[in-house]
This record gives sequence, C-alpha cells and structure tokens, in this order.
Amino acid sequence: MPKPLTDQEKRKQISVRGLAGVENVSDLKTNFNRHLHFTLVKDRNVATKRDYYFALANTVRDHLVGRWIRTQQHYYEKDPKLGLDMEELQDIEEDAGLGNGGLGRLAACFLDSMASLGLAAYGYGIRYEFGIFNQKIVNGWQVEEADDWLRYGNPWEKARPEYMRPVHFYGRVEHTPEGVKWVDTQVVLALPYDTPVPGYRNNVVNTMRLWSAKAPCDFNLKDFNVGGYIQAVLDRNLAENISRVLYPNDNFFEGKELRLKQEYFVVAATLQDIVRRFKSSKFGSTEVVRVDLSTLPDKVAIQLNDTHPALAIPELMRILLDTEHQTWEKAWDIVTRTCAYTNHTVLPEALERWPIDLFQNLLPRHLEIIFEINRRHLERIANLYPGDHDRLRRMSLVEEGDQKKINMAHLCIVGSHAVNGVARIHSDIIKATLFKDFYEVDPHKFQNKTNGITPRRWLVMCNPGLAEVIAERIGEDYIRDLGQLKNLLEFVDDDSLIRDIAKVKQENKLKFSAYLEEHYKVKINPNSMFDVQVKRIHEYKRQLLNCLHIITLYNRIKKEPNKNWTPRTIMIGGKAAPGYHTAKLIIRLITAVGDIVNHDEVVGDRLKVIFLENYKVTLAEKIIPASDLSEQISTAGTEASGTGNMKFMLNGALTIGTMDGANVEMAEEAGEENLFIFGMRVDDVDAMDKSGYDAMEYYNRIPELKLAMDQIAGGYFSPDQHDLFKDIVNMLLHHDRFKVFADYEAYIKCQDKVSALYKNPKEWTKMVIHNIAGCGKFSSDRTISQYAREIWGMEPSLERIPAPDDPRQ
Ligand SMILES: *Cc1c(COP(=O)(O)O)cnc(C)c1O
Repeated sequence: MPKPLTDQEKRKQISVRGLAGVENVSDLKTNFNRHLHFTLVKDRNVATKRDYYFALANTVRDHLVGRWIRTQQHYYEKDPKLGLDMEELQDIEEDAGLGNGGLGRLAACFLDSMASLGLAAYGYGIRYEFGIFNQKIVNGWQVEEADDWLRYGNPWEKARPEYMRPVHFYGRVEHTPEGVKWVDTQVVLALPYDTPVPGYRNNVVNTMRLWSAKAPCDFNLKDFNVGGYIQAVLDRNLAENISRVLYPNDNFFEGKELRLKQEYFVVAATLQDIVRRFKSSKFGSTEVVRVDLSTLPDKVAIQLNDTHPALAIPELMRILLDTEHQTWEKAWDIVTRTCAYTNHTVLPEALERWPIDLFQNLLPRHLEIIFEINRRHLERIANLYPGDHDRLRRMSLVEEGDQKKINMAHLCIVGSHAVNGVARIHSDIIKATLFKDFYEVDPHKFQNKTNGITPRRWLVMCNPGLAEVIAERIGEDYIRDLGQLKNLLEFVDDDSLIRDIAKVKQENKLKFSAYLEEHYKVKINPNSMFDVQVKRIHEYKRQLLNCLHIITLYNRIKKEPNKNWTPRTIMIGGKAAPGYHTAKLIIRLITAVGDIVNHDEVVGDRLKVIFLENYKVTLAEKIIPASDLSEQISTAGTEASGTGNMKFMLNGALTIGTMDGANVEMAEEAGEENLFIFGMRVDDVDAMDKSGYDAMEYYNRIPELKLAMDQIAGGYFSPDQHDLFKDIVNMLLHHDRFKVFADYEAYIKCQDKVSALYKNPKEWTKMVIHNIAGCGKFSSDRTISQYAREIWGMEPSLERIPAPDDPRQ
C-alpha cells in the first residue's frame, strides 16, 4: 500500500505535471525564462540568439520529458524510487582530479576562499579529458588506469561555445613596417567550460573557467581529394589532444612538446578572455571609441600559480606590442604591474627549463620577446655589477649548455611585481639560495604567503561531528573566521570537551574501519593508533623513513612479544608518477613489508601496515578525520609548505614532523611542545651538505638500522626475489639526496614518545585540543586576504550580497 503524499510532495507533483503539459502562453513564457536563467545561466542583457534558441528548445523538450520518462518506466514496469540516500548519491560523483597533489588542491581551496571573501576572482585551467590516473595495486605494484571522469557527463559544468577563442602555434615571424606579424600558424580553438564556485553563505557565486581544445572546422583541410578529407577529419584528434590528459608528475619537470602546448594553450585563451572582459566592462574606459590597456593593472591581477602559466608574461607583451601597438616600455610596465608569481618548490628537478629549440619551433614570436626581456634585464644587471660575468650567467633567462634553455622561474621573477614563497621558511630559503641574486637587486618584490586550507571542505564537510563539537563550545562563526578556534583554549581542561573530541575521533575511526573492510577487504583494529602518511610518493617526502620505522617496530615486537606495545595501524597512501622508478619501488616495498608484518602471528593486531590504494581528495576526506598521527617527515628544506599537514591538524591528529615547510609555523601556533618535532633543521642539512653525508656511518653505528636494511637487502620482505629492492638499498646507502639515515635515530626516539603518550588518552586529547585551537592561521581565507591586500591591492570583505530576485520576472 503506497504512503499518502505529503502536501509538499503533492505540490511538487502538481508543478511537474504543469511542466509536462504546458497549455497556455503564459506558462510557456515562464518556462522559457526559467531555462534562460537556470539552464543557460543568462539574463536578457547578455543572451545571444543562440541562447534564446536553446532556451526555447529546452522548453519544448520539457513538454516531452514527462511522457518520455513515463514511457520508459512503462517499458521496464518499474516505479520511481522516492527514498534517496544522499550519501549514496554523493559517492556517485567523480573526483575532478585535474591536479597532481598539493598545488592543484591549493588552487581549489583558494577558489573557495575568494568566493567566500567576495573577491571578483576567476580560476583558469585546462579541462583535461583524463585527470590524474586511477591507481590500482596489483601483486603489490602500482598499475595506472585512465581516469575517464567525464564518461557520464559533468552536471556542474556549462560549455560556453560563444566565448571560444583561437590559439596559435608554430608559424614564423615577419617584421614589417606596420609592425610584427606572427604568420602561417596552426590554430586550435579553446572552448571554455564554466563551473560555479559558491562562497560560504554569502550569495556569491564565482566562476572557474576550464579550457578544452577543439579543432577548427577547416583543420588540416587543404586537400580536396577524398583521402585528404578523411585524413583531415581524423587528424582533428591531433589538435584536440592538447587537453586530453594531465601530465602525472608532481614536483618533476618533463620537457615534452605537448606539455608546452598545454601551457601556452591555457595562457593564450585566458589572456584573450581577460582582455575581452576588460574592454567590454565599464571600467575599461569611459570613452567607448578606443579602449587601451594602460589601466589594466588597476583592474586586473594575474597570479601565476608556479611557473606553469609563465608564458602569460611574453603573451601579454605580444598582445600589447603587436596588437595594441604599445611601446616596449609601456607594455613592460603594464605586464609587470599585472603579474605576480608564486614559487612552490626549490627542488632542481621540478624547475621548468624549456629547450630553446622547442620554443623556436612552437612559439617563435614568444622566444623573440623573451630574448628582448633578457637583453634589457641583463643590461640592467651589468650596469649594477660591472664586470661580474658570472652573475650575468647565473641571472640570465637563457641557460647556456649543450642545449640552451629558458629558465621559467627567472622569467617569472623579472616579469612580476611580487614573488612569494608558500611558508615562511620556504620564502626565506628562496631569498637566501634559489633566487638570492634576484633578491639582492629587487628585495621589495619578495614576500611570503603561508598556504592554507578551506575549513568548509576540510572540517565542516569532511568531519561534521568535530565541527559540531567545536560549535557547541564557541559558536559557528569560526567557520568564516578560523582564528576564533583559539577560544577553545578556555576549554582545554574541560573533561566534557576532552570526552567529546575523543568520542568523535573514535566514531570516525570506526566509520573508516568499516569503509576499509567494505571497499578494500581489510580488517583493522579501530582501537589501535591510526598512524597515517598520505601524499604523493616522492623520495623527498621520505616514505622510506616511515618504512624503516615500521620494520624497526616489527623487529622489536618479534624480539619482546610480551611487552606492552602501543598497537598501531600504519597507513601509507599516494600515487607515484608512472615514470618514477624509485617511487614505484617504494610502493612495492610498503606492500611487501605489509605482507610479512600483517601475516605474522606473533605480531597479531599490534602492528598492521596498509597501503591505501588510489589516494585522492575523496579518500583524504575519509582518512584524515579518522587519523591519530600525521606523518610530515620530509628532509628539512625540501617541502615548500605542505597542506596535508594542516588538514590533519584541523581534524584532531597530532603531527610527527621535521622543521620543514608549514610545520614550523604549526609548531609556533600550537606550541612546539604540542607537536612531535624531530631531526635535522635546515642549517644542519646545509652543514651536512658541506661536510658530506655518509650513510654508511649510520648503517654501521646503529644496530636496528643495520638490521632493517639487511632484511630489505637480503630478501626478508621479498622471499621470491631476494634482490627486488636492490635499487632502494643502493640509493639509501650510497646516493641518498634526502639523507634518510641521518634522521633515523631521532625519528625512532620521537616515535617512542608518540607511543608513550598514546597510552594516556586524556593527555593525548588535550594535546589535540591545543592543536585544533592553533589552526586559525591555516585557513586559506587568511592566505587569500593577504594575497588580496599585499599583492593584488584589493580589500576582501565578509559581507553578503543580497539573495537574487525571483528569476522568473
Ligand atoms: C592535501 C592533498 C595533497 C597534498 O598533501 P601534502 O601532504 O601537502 O603533500 C595531495 N593530495 C591530496 C589528494 C590532497 O588532498
């Protein structure tokens, strides 16, 4: 017997019937306007003819939809389901895996904060048809699968073919009396897809605009014979390959032509979009006749998120010189006042250095412009330091060698009015080392903007239990003003808060255990300490140091099985770049150690090792709220900031970490006594680089380290292939750039302290509260407010804008 409908359901049914069977002109008009507004996201001021056509088409389609669905239901003899499980529907949504690791995720947090702070901001990028690969673990090895995330469509995006833009490649440069012309180019179209970015409870909705590559209709169509025509249509793929797939490297530069094409593609499309918007808006100029770009920097700021969009600098110069016919001096002033550059890494292998030959072929005009930027830049340096040829070599945008290369970071510094690092220690390091020469000539350019995370996604959404416990004590204003978390310190000795925080953590751990059991078929002990390291697999992040701790714990338990060990479940997750051999072997080592440890009867459930397959944002949202211990153990001086560290801190995990990246400021905010800090500081690492790092010395001196290494080398964890890990062993012993052994002893001792504290749940949870209370600084709202005021010259505001009027007017 079906349940009687509520009044609300009845109203819904009535309106659905109304849509399906519009009978009068007034209904038709209403529905047409509704589609114009909601489906096409347009009003009558900006709608094109094509928009009206689509609004009409959709209105007509609605007439059919009800009957269409009912017809199909009739075919299947199925009733529509009414009770919908929202969590189940959420799980259907694919991750938009359009970035590699922290850098892309940071950009997403920034979009959330910019909308929540009411900043008129746009996020630009590439709409990759295939995002970061899906990771499968097969026989312990990483196997990559294509991420076909658009297969079932993407309900959040709206294609905007009316804003399509041509992007030119290849060709040659002509210098004529009328100016410079870039001719005989190949054209690819950039088709924008818009995704709404809502602010937090302020009625603001900003735009993220991602570009997709489309071949023009006449692409390769010069042959008029049939064979030529078919081939030309097939070759459209070549053009459209530009937005096909994300390069899966994190912190590693791969100098492939397709990648350079991607970088220019997003830059060229975006700059045309910016210039179009500037010229069409009221603020471009009061005279409508001719809008020049002199006031662009007063109205537009372009923030370069790493050097990946560095071509914005020569591209904007090209537009100003060749299309707008500005003088070099005027153009350069506009460019440098508009652009600002964020550096994200000091690792040499990650820095973009494009071979000049690639440039000459693909972007000949840009290469000319870069040469002229460099000529003027070096002229200035030569005047400041006469005779200092080595300095000119060091500071040049063009690196000499077998193959000349463009140093994109140097281009960004010279072409920007502001350069920032992403944590205080990192900003200090780039001034003292990587960009020392540039800091000396332009100290005013250099700033710091410590990274942050959005508390909406990384607390309220992923950990509603904790968000609620906090709100019960200090109200919910902290969600927009994270500094208010310090008000929790009032309650740090309050038994009820301690109990509630511990209870939420336990619930999250139980929920995650159930998830692991269902989706990964592994059983874990929810009363053990959840010790978690999730991030991209990279030597500098030192998952190997974690492995050595696991093996050491294992050996200790085996040696004294009756001691009162603190049970741990150690979980490690992350993707290795498919071409990064050592990173893939690190994954294999983790799974191999897990195979031995997890099946050892003596160990039981006091130590379990889990490799978390396919770490991505949706998995992060599940594991981080369930974690007790966060591993942030990079070699001091290598992790620019880290943001994973902040997510764990905000979700009530304690940190074991080095004095690297944002860990330094986390310790400052929460009190160093509330983190487990160990190991070499940047100064110690530098000193060791001078004196020489001798891994064998540690191996010979520390028996537990020697035992662990001998086991890895001797096939203890790879009984079927004793030399499986020889490359890792050889690296650790003879050419380890990241000095794993030098921090081993301090790390193990620090882990012993962690285990001891975990035996005292009350003291542990108090420390957790100190950490949560110290998280205020790590909101991306704070980061963005600083970018706005100190780089973009604008004022953020927490004011709401009025709710929209009824659109059907
Ligand atoms: C936050 C995040 C990262 C960055 O983590 P780090 O520990 O800072 O390297 C990487 N991947 C995903 C899915 C994330 O959510």
